Amino acid sequence: MIDCGEGCQIRLNQYKVKKSKIDEIFISHFHGDHFFGLPGLITSFNLSSRTKSLRIYGPIGLKKFIGTLEEIGSFYLNFPLEIHELNPDISELIHKDENVEVSTLPLKHRIPTTGFLFREKEKPRKIDSTAIEKFKLSIPEIKQAKEGGDVLRHGDQRIPNVDITLTPKPRRAYAYCSDTIYDEELVDLISGTDLLYHEATYLHDMQDQARARGHATAREAAIIAKKSHAKRLLLGHFSSRYKDVSVFLNEALEVFPNCDLAQDGKTFKI
Ligand SMILES: [Zn+2]
Ligand SMILES: [Zn+2]
Repeated sequence: MIDCGEGCQIRLNQYKVKKSKIDEIFISHFHGDHFFGLPGLITSFNLSSRTKSLRIYGPIGLKKFIGTLEEIGSFYLNFPLEIHELNPDISELIHKDENVEVSTLPLKHRIPTTGFLFREKEKPRKIDSTAIEKFKLSIPEIKQAKEGGDVLRHGDQRIPNVDITLTPKPRRAYAYCSDTIYDEELVDLISGTDLLYHEATYLHDMQDQARARGHATAREAAIIAKKSHAKRLLLGHFSSRYKDVSVFLNEALEVFPNCDLAQDGKTFKI
């Protein structure tokens, strides 16, 4: 889960997302719209008798926040909770599991803030089924090829690994950049993502106010998408002053062709 605003549990229930599937929570910063849902969600985990561990990554102060809630008796944890406080000034690898690696993205906002880059882990090469037939590969030879080796046969015959395996699909990547001003320093860090979520709190005629409040405009989000060669841009975090959010899409489309609006309940496949 990335950020956990007030009302997150209502949405999880509404869209039938199982809370038990959440093992990691990444909090970008300590503005209420990004973390006020956390105490309620942790309490629900306790009530549902969770026993597996939960990892929360977030700003410095997270340990104190959770510790204070425990101390004043708001909750007692039934399950192991790992808290990782993040350095907001550098980009670093903070989490990896069998599927994905997560790195931080330093963002420029009014308080220390980090975005997150999720990159799929490199997949091993797969055996080409036609090669099994063609070279009459034995089970030990297939095993050898799966581990990345060439197949060696007597008489000095060598079948190169590339001839019997298929190149895995490119690693998919998703970048989450909220909340932030327009910041070109992000461009290299998020280069070539399949999906870039970038905040767009205002339209570009309010560029000065956006910058003063630590936010970006739809046009600026689209420029970051274009410069970083993102495949697709997702806009979000719209100011409530705009009643019709399609204006954000129209502004971004002038700069970058493949944009969508992040709206409650929508799913985007990467
Ligand atoms: Zn904020
Ligand atoms: Zn915010």
